[in-house]
Amino acid sequence: MGKGRKCCVPGCNSNYNNTDNYVSSFTFPKDATRKNQWVKSINRANFIPSPTAVVCIKHFSSQFIIKEDRIVRDDGSELVVPRKIWKLTNDAYPSIFPNQPSYLSHEPSTSRKSPSERITALKLRDEQNFAEW
Ligand SMILES: [Zn+2]
Repeated sequence: MGKGRKCCVPGCNSNYNNTDNYVSSFTFPKDATRKNQWVKSINRANFIPSPTAVVCIKHFSSQFIIKEDRIVRDDGSELVVPRKIWKLTNDAYPSIFPNQPSYLSHEPSTSRKSPSERITALKLRDEQNFAEW
């Protein structure tokens, strides 16, 4: 997640100027299927993303952006900790393209939200237990 890498989505100029307005950006998934999904989504002709190619956060629906960690305590209550660095859910893909024809953008189904959030919470709990929290 290098700072200031230029977004590879056509029409998007995130991080093209060296300003203070740094836009969070994400490299393509390593998984081939998901990588293809990203490439198809951004609709860039003959595009093969380099290992350093990034898509900025503007193209991701909020349901795919993890802005906080939820830690489930032993008593079942949740501790919500805002993340300094946002990350994407495991099923995230770009779906918002402000500078392209509107038919390319869509709102992903929201049914996926809960499971991925729950997995994150569970994972975190495991990590925390491991660290004798
Ligand atoms: Zn962008």
